[in-house]
Amino acid sequence: MKREHLCCPHCGEESLTVFQKLSLGAMMSRKCEVCGWHFGVSAIAWLAMVPAFISVVLAEAADTLVPKLLCWGVGIFVSSLFYLYGVPLVSKE
Ligand SMILES: [Zn+2]
Repeated sequence: MKREHLCCPHCGEESLTVFQKLSLGAMMSRKCEVCGWHFGVSAIAWLAMVPAFISVVLAEAADTLVPKLLCWGVGIFVSSLFYLYGVPLVSKE
C-alpha cells in the first residue's frame, strides 16, 4: 500500500521514509531516487510548527518539570503528525 504523504510529486513513487520527511526543512529540497527530479515540502510547512510553539508558551504556565515536558511532548507530537500527513510534497524544480 502506497503512502501518499511520502510520494514524489513528479513520478508518484514512494521516495521518502517518515524520518526523511520530518527532517526535510521548508527551505530544503531532495532528489527523488526514482525519477531524479527535486521536490520539497509545501510552504504551509511553517504552519505545522504552530502546535509546537503554542505548547512552549503553554508550558511556561506550568510550575514543575513534568507538566512542562508533557506539554512540549504533546506539541511536538501534534506538529510532527501535521507535518507528516498534512504538508504535501511539491516540486522544487
Ligand atoms: Zn520521483
